[in-house]
Amino acid sequence: MFITRPLTLFFISVTALILQGCALTSHPVTTTAMGKPSSSAEMERLIDQPGPIQFEAIDSAHWSVTLAGLLNLDSPAAKEAGLKDRDEPIQVYAYLLKHPQHGNFLADTGVSKKLLDDPRKEGVNWLIQKVMHIDKIEIKKSTGEIVQSVDGKLNGIFFTHLHLDHISGMPDIASNVPLYIGATESNESSFKNLFVRGATDQLLQGKQALQEWHFQPDPQGKFAGIVDVFEDGSVFAISVPGHTQGSTAFLIRTTHGPVLLTGDTCHTRWGWDHTVEPGDFTADHVRNLQSLKHMKELVARHPQIEVHLGHQHF
Ligand SMILES: [Zn+2]
Repeated sequence: MFITRPLTLFFISVTALILQGCALTSHPVTTTAMGKPSSSAEMERLIDQPGPIQFEAIDSAHWSVTLAGLLNLDSPAAKEAGLKDRDEPIQVYAYLLKHPQHGNFLADTGVSKKLLDDPRKEGVNWLIQKVMHIDKIEIKKSTGEIVQSVDGKLNGIFFTHLHLDHISGMPDIASNVPLYIGATESNESSFKNLFVRGATDQLLQGKQALQEWHFQPDPQGKFAGIVDVFEDGSVFAISVPGHTQGSTAFLIRTTHGPVLLTGDTCHTRWGWDHTVEPGDFTADHVRNLQSLKHMKELVARHPQIEVHLGHQHF
């Protein structure tokens, strides 16, 4: 009796944990005071006018991962094309945004050399190393080099989402740099989080609290929400749930025209061209596909937009 009861309670707790999963990270979260809720009408009124942001897309690392993760191979288009699972070459990007008044920002973080040199020290255990095939990551420009290129002057990081390959530059990010994420990105419960929570927590350890964008419903109903980040119409954060609950795209009015960062709502060129959402790496396929369609419709209305996909060149 004394042995079986605690054991029963233990198994009930473990089963409950597996069924419910857990939040992605226990890192503190707040709502940001930065930016103001906007609308697709306001964003689209400005999109085609030249903007003030100096923009650079950086290939931080080359990598290869399973195509079944990157693309829904069960989609009618993928079946028709006869696509089979294979290793697919991809890139890990960081994007540098220089605002003339507000300073330098990164969108996503690239890959830190420290993470590859000693993954365990950064919280990436052997299981994640194996599942992620971390041995296949080849750094082209490390996060450290990117930060050095702006003399260490970073005013914030805009995350498209918090999957490990998007926070893999955190070991090179100073502890005073503000971090911005989509609403509910960090506390959505999932079974998969049981495996990555430790690494996510460790990569964020000692860093600033995560600040969620204050999204409100888009009056035109084209997106789940839009925030005018600097309140000057230069950068818009767009809520595109599906790949993760808090997935965020960015529309940036650069000195050479409008740029759209899709994040992992679309990983691949084939996925964009054929309107097929990611595969196993995505949490909610229906919502992911919907968000992808909304972005393609935006680009169809404004063909000048330069599209940057999650992991492949456009
Ligand atoms: Zn990714």
